Amino acid sequence: MQTEENLEGRGAGLVPISQVLKRVTDSQASRQSSPGQTSQMTTTIEECTCAQCGQAFEGEVTYYPRWPKHKPFRPANCPSCKAELEAREAEELELEREKQRAALRELWRRECGMPPELLTRTFDNFDRQYQKAAWKAAVRWARDFDFDAPRGYPSLMFYSAIPGVGKGHLMASIVNYVLDNWKGDPERVRCPIRFESGPSLVRRIRATYNLRKEDVMHEREDEVYRSLAGAPLLLLDDVGKEKPSDFTRETYWFIVNERVTTGLPVIISSRLEFEGERSLETLMHQDTVSRLYGMTRGKFVKMRGQDYRKLKGIA
Ligand SMILES: [Zn+2]
Repeated sequence: MQTEENLEGRGAGLVPISQVLKRVTDSQASRQSSPGQTSQMTTTIEECTCAQCGQAFEGEVTYYPRWPKHKPFRPANCPSCKAELEAREAEELELEREKQRAALRELWRRECGMPPELLTRTFDNFDRQYQKAAWKAAVRWARDFDFDAPRGYPSLMFYSAIPGVGKGHLMASIVNYVLDNWKGDPERVRCPIRFESGPSLVRRIRATYNLRKEDVMHEREDEVYRSLAGAPLLLLDDVGKEKPSDFTRETYWFIVNERVTTGLPVIISSRLEFEGERSLETLMHQDTVSRLYGMTRGKFVKMRGQDYRKLKGIA
């Protein structure tokens, strides 16, 4: 048992922590004041010869007195050659990373869900005379978007009352542009883009409703949502081709809500206006549309004009 007395006695023998720390830092400081002298090695400044340019230079040579067989360490290159070699190494590393990026870009282009006929669509091969304002808005959007920092970036809506005005082309151009200009970390594993057609996405989710519990071959509802969740860029093409129902409202609410809560943008193309009898509101519900409208910060691209395919005589 401890008495009060010996507790006190012990207390008297304790050194305040501040003093202990001071002693430790003082001894470290004195060690650091003579960096060339430790028990294990000594360093001196000597004339060295550069292996690269053959010139003499003053270099720091390290000896290991405790291990006489251990060769002293001499710098191989003069400072300017060393800097040059390091720069070249960094350049080679960057070249290697760019190669990795190029491979990833092609993989992601094929993996993101973009239809094959859109893979080669770019801003350059879009007929910009035909839809100048829409083209400009899309280019501006793509230019400032960085899928390594996508949060808080505004969403984008393409609308046209008639089909074939180039909405799909512009969406694909955005995908191709952000992929081709991506300079991020090639160690990244997940494809940062999901390109979905609205109607087929709804169909996919509906299909999961008929699955029996023991069916493990087909994707389940949460898997579909998970495949979209957190993607830095989500594109929904042709939204509104599907018949409005409670099901479409629920589905779009889930998708849009996930984008809102994570602050990630979505690009939508549709032939539906925001409101009216046959509109995004009847398809998605008013709350979802107003959230969507908020995400686009009130801007959406209206595309007018004749059906481009008809205009150009493309079947
Ligand atoms: Zn040199």
